[in-house]
Amino acid sequence: MSRLLSFTDHLQRSATGKHWRDDDSDDGSDERQSRWTRYFPLCILLVLMVAPHPSLLLVLVNHYLRTLHEPITFLVHLCVSYTLTFLSFASLIICVVRDPGPVCLENPAQDDGQISARDEIGLREALMGPPDEPDDGEITPLKWCRKCWAPKPERTHHCSLCGRCVLKMDHHCPWLGGKCVGHRTYPSFFHFITCITLFSAHVAYLAGTAFWWSFNNPASIFDEVTPLHELFLLCAGVIFGLVVGSFMIYHIYLISTNQTTLESLSPFLLLRFIPPLPSSLRLSDPPMEHELSYTQRRLVRNAHRAVKLYDLGWQENWAQVFGWRKSGGWVPRVLYGGASPGDGRNFPRNPRAQDMLQKLANALEIADKEA
Ligand SMILES: [Zn+2]
Ligand SMILES: [Zn+2]
Repeated sequence: MSRLLSFTDHLQRSATGKHWRDDDSDDGSDERQSRWTRYFPLCILLVLMVAPHPSLLLVLVNHYLRTLHEPITFLVHLCVSYTLTFLSFASLIICVVRDPGPVCLENPAQDDGQISARDEIGLREALMGPPDEPDDGEITPLKWCRKCWAPKPERTHHCSLCGRCVLKMDHHCPWLGGKCVGHRTYPSFFHFITCITLFSAHVAYLAGTAFWWSFNNPASIFDEVTPLHELFLLCAGVIFGLVVGSFMIYHIYLISTNQTTLESLSPFLLLRFIPPLPSSLRLSDPPMEHELSYTQRRLVRNAHRAVKLYDLGWQENWAQVFGWRKSGGWVPRVLYGGASPGDGRNFPRNPRAQDMLQKLANALEIADKEA
């Protein structure tokens, strides 16, 4: 009955055009407090981004301008440093202010209170689903979010921290003001970590060469404080370059194989896509993770390493994120990462994936009978 009441509420919201996120206003002070708390890591991130600049300016002026008298080198390092800083802030602002991927009602027919054919499937599945089934809101075999009580397009996940669904959700990032990275912000997110990595590498290079020169020419240094700043910049550049750079390399791998972080780290998401299993098995259809035996779990993990559901080749995969096939549009891509093409709801599948999923289903069936 509660399910039916919620469903009625869903239809009322659809008819009035009220958005799911309006629920935020009901929470009053608790919500405001959590809102302030979630911006704390972002403040730390901003401090970390600004902190090296006094030392950077001091090293550039004292070492490259006043000691070496190389204005061209000084200007090149200055331009590269502040261009990368500007680009980092540009993509960070986009990540923080842009909605990562709203599952809004885009179908005009729905705005009139009608349900589209595609959503009818979700409604039927939701109403016929087991009412007491445990649901953590993160992974569900149904194309329906029982937290938002709204359709859940492919690759969409419900973020329990944000309290909403996000299209092609990659991960929840506390450093971005407690927001998710999703379909609409992933290019900016990748742009941001790339710029931070390049900035760190550049700072490490210029500070390293300056420190090495000071180490070999102690009698010619401008003052005794500058080498300390050079050492600080060198350490900070190396540490941040390695940390953020490894993160960037991981996302290059994810983009090249067309995976999100969630899909890469959650092998059991594959269970949502395997062909129907015989009803004689102990498993649900589709199977739930907690129903699997050790052998079946191992089979799923092995399949997850082999099956990349959306992998269409690296060129097509990168085009899905950055839209390389679009004519023009390079300016926003360079400035803040641009935006992914498409609506974030439909994604072409790897043509080989279905065969591999069928093999996985067969292997699960055999393992279930042997258990
Ligand atoms: Zn949801
Ligand atoms: Zn989130």
